[in-house]
Amino acid sequence: MSIGIIGAGQLGRMIALAGYPMGLKFTFLDRSDQAPGAQVGNIILGDFSNADALAKLAREVSVLTYDVENVPVEALREAAGDVPVHPGPAILEAAQDRLDEKQAFADHGIATAPYRRVDSREDLGAAVKALGLPAVLKRRRLGYDGRGQRFLHEPSDLDEAWEALGDAPLILEGFVDFDREVSLVGVRNPSGDTAFYPLSENVHEDGILRYSLAPAPKNGPQTKAEDQMRSLMESYGYAGVLTIEYFEKDGELIANEMAPRVHNSGHWTIEGAATSQFENHLRGILDLPLGDTRPRGRAAMVNCLGGMPEMSEVIALPDVHYHDYGKAARPRRKLGHLTAIRENDAGRSDILEQLLEIVRRAEGDQGPG
Ligand code: AMP
Repeated sequence: MSIGIIGAGQLGRMIALAGYPMGLKFTFLDRSDQAPGAQVGNIILGDFSNADALAKLAREVSVLTYDVENVPVEALREAAGDVPVHPGPAILEAAQDRLDEKQAFADHGIATAPYRRVDSREDLGAAVKALGLPAVLKRRRLGYDGRGQRFLHEPSDLDEAWEALGDAPLILEGFVDFDREVSLVGVRNPSGDTAFYPLSENVHEDGILRYSLAPAPKNGPQTKAEDQMRSLMESYGYAGVLTIEYFEKDGELIANEMAPRVHNSGHWTIEGAATSQFENHLRGILDLPLGDTRPRGRAAMVNCLGGMPEMSEVIALPDVHYHDYGKAARPRRKLGHLTAIRENDAGRSDILEQLLEIVRRAEGDQGPG
């Protein structure tokens, strides 16, 4: 059985690595033969928006999936005429636009921050008046890892933010003074089975995930999050892994965004759960029985941003695992991650501190502060 993956980033690479033991084969579509996935699978070189390249990929595989969210939905719809595409184009379309995404959340009774559509400088003024400050101005499309957004604190911040972002459709969100950020990673197959991992607690720096703790140190509203995700999945006839990132405040969940794919906050599942999110994504898109999502212990996953630590120093630590995506170093770029599994929260706190010290040292002066 051959799987096509649009985008050969680290997510695609980890999907392929999870699928090889099951006898699956992988072909990627990507612009670069240096991409992380290209190092572990066949590659068709081309742009995601190149209909010929997509058609070629679709002809070669039994099912198509993607590891990036900026795949043109029209091209995906066309490919879906030849081969199953999972997750389906409709939910990707909603996830690509923060306004549609908020509407999809609202349709399923999922709370979000208050927001206003912003298409002009006047809209921005009116939105700030309605929502107050602080607030967050975001590009509706193609923003990730904190890119394409500005935090507004003072009225004098508006002009600069408009100058920086105003060339594209925007959304203004009320600032959520959250207690913490959590995410739910879940999976569904076309037969309608679902499975959910325990909520992970995620800490971001400059909009980029620094580390995740899973299961989250203090139990969050797991059942509520699962009910919300199941409802979304059912209405889209979803197949594969879906992630929803939330703010948690006073025990309530406020959805920030969703990703119709495997997610950085689920990387801990490789060593920290009975079945990884990557294997479960494959089981989901192939309509196979889903794997056990139970955690094996208390996992800490730390991203390596802009620099990789020495492997020998990391793997000398007991039950600590080193993942290097094979990418060229650039400041703040996700190059790899480290995962530690411990028996209890105290042990996990200790190893988290140690791993953060190790990655910050490797990142040198590229890290913030
Ligand atoms: P995003 O690109 O939407 O995932 O945002 C990146 C990070 O910015 C989030 O993980 C939060 O830490 C922060 N953030 C985004 N939106 C808001 C908001 N409305 N209120 C408070 N913090 C936010």
